[in-house]
Amino acid sequence: MSVTRAEVVVIGGGVMGASIAYHLARAGVRDVVLVERDELASGSTSRAAGGVRAQFSDELNIQLGARSLEAFGRFGEEIGQDIGLHRVGYLFLLSTPEDVASFEAGVALQNGLGVPSRMLTPAEARRLSPLITTDGLLAAAYSPDDGHCTPEAVVHGYAAAARRHGATVLRHTEVTGIERDGENGEGDTIEAVVTDRGRIATDTVVCAAGAWSRAVGAMAGVDLPVDPLRRQIAVTEPVPGLPPTLPMTIDFSSSLYFHTEGPGLLLGMSDPDETTGFATDTHDRWIPRLYEAMEHRAPALLDLRRTGGWAGLYEITPDHNALIGEATSVSRLLYATGFSGHGFLQGPAVGEVVRDLYLGRVPFVDISPLSAGRFAADALRPEVNLV
Ligand SMILES: Cc1cc2nc3c(=O)[nH]c(=O)nc-3n(C[C@H](O)[C@H](O)[C@H](O)COP(=O)(O)OP(=O)(O)OC[C@H]3O[C@@H](n4cnc5c(N)ncnc54)[C@H](O)[C@@H]3O)c2cc1C
Repeated sequence: MSVTRAEVVVIGGGVMGASIAYHLARAGVRDVVLVERDELASGSTSRAAGGVRAQFSDELNIQLGARSLEAFGRFGEEIGQDIGLHRVGYLFLLSTPEDVASFEAGVALQNGLGVPSRMLTPAEARRLSPLITTDGLLAAAYSPDDGHCTPEAVVHGYAAAARRHGATVLRHTEVTGIERDGENGEGDTIEAVVTDRGRIATDTVVCAAGAWSRAVGAMAGVDLPVDPLRRQIAVTEPVPGLPPTLPMTIDFSSSLYFHTEGPGLLLGMSDPDETTGFATDTHDRWIPRLYEAMEHRAPALLDLRRTGGWAGLYEITPDHNALIGEATSVSRLLYATGFSGHGFLQGPAVGEVVRDLYLGRVPFVDISPLSAGRFAADALRPEVNLV
């Protein structure tokens, strides 16, 4: 391996690592090295449904989502990569008075932050998403700025642009340790990142290792409470007559969601029987529940043949919100992880934020409530608008 020193080592070549490397290199930081043990985007990012949105309950997530939507919108121009952005909106279907009240509050908060979301009647929701039934539906929440795009394209675009700005991308290189100063290697200053292909001297590390972040944090003696949780996706045969503007449609009660994927549909849903672990093989145990949800909210989907699917890992934190910040026990260990299922859509904005934390600039949003220290301080920050 020719790289023996770096100003910053970013660990993890998913959307976060690639965006962070790009934003650092573009800001003029020299010797940025992005280290990925497999192929770029081979972790959770390539398994994502590609949904991008600013409809959240947490003010920080609204701002991170909205800022990222702007970046996705100008991606071709700024980064030079087509990301297949479909700005078709997110449509949340709501069946309980509690969910309606919670989304009404969310829409008010989002509107105050410039997000053009609004509440819809069931009939309006069905006009946008004709495969649904309105039986038992009370209302819906919709924002036309949301949508979906292609995760791998975003990663490859950022990585290529980072290289153009002087960053080095090391694939098939696994980080196996982080060396610190002090007699027992337990001091508070980072000295190097050790990989299976050699040692890179550096005093700064960014952990963007997704579901594997707990192990990477532990290498530096930092607790990053992130657990892996398998989620599955199914894709269907082509569906004739699908409106090209079909929004990402989510039945909030069951968590069933779908959006167009080429000529067919991509479907997903949470599985309450899933337990934490790194397994990413697919299984059919979630299918009966998926069909039950389809029968209830979108019976037209029942006739569609499943032609494929895949599994990937959500990177879950105790309050289902991200960990973004800088460790207090070790100098210059930054982290951006634990996105709990909404990390793809935050990639662009978090890249900017981590760049600013590294440079000592004030980020466009105060990210300190998302520090990993919040759990010890009992300052949890739950996000409720989860898919
Ligand atoms: C089925 C599914 C659907 C999803 N849908 C959406 C969605 O619609 N919208 C959305 O916003 N999010 C979605 N997500 C979540 C999203 O995929 C993640 O939040 C996001 O991709 C996290 O990006 P990341 O860069 O942090 O992690 P990753 O993409 O997992 O990247 C981390 C990388 O670190 C590497 N790595 C780990 N350890 C080491 C090491 N020791 N040395 C070197 N490299 C290492 C891994 O190989 C991996 O490539 C979905 C996830 C799944 C599973």
